[in-house]
Amino acid sequence: MSVPKRRKTSSKTKKGRSHQALKNPNYTKCPKCGASARPHYACIECGSYNSREVLKTRATKKAGQKAKKEAQAKKAQKTS
Ligand SMILES: [Zn+2]
Repeated sequence: MSVPKRRKTSSKTKKGRSHQALKNPNYTKCPKCGASARPHYACIECGSYNSREVLKTRATKKAGQKAKKEAQAKKAQKTS
């Protein structure tokens, strides 16, 4: 393993570390639901990206389950 030839001064260390700070993430408004969402990321609230649904969020999952249950109930009513 290589070993540094010279000691890095505290000034040099600090100057290097001045560029390591994290920046705040950028947020834009989701065009579908209006919630704040990161640009180039799918909206966490409604799961949409480029005006179509790409993620299954908790809300959409619940809605899907409800619709499934209702369909099953309708089927059961028809058969009986
Ligand atoms: Zn959204």
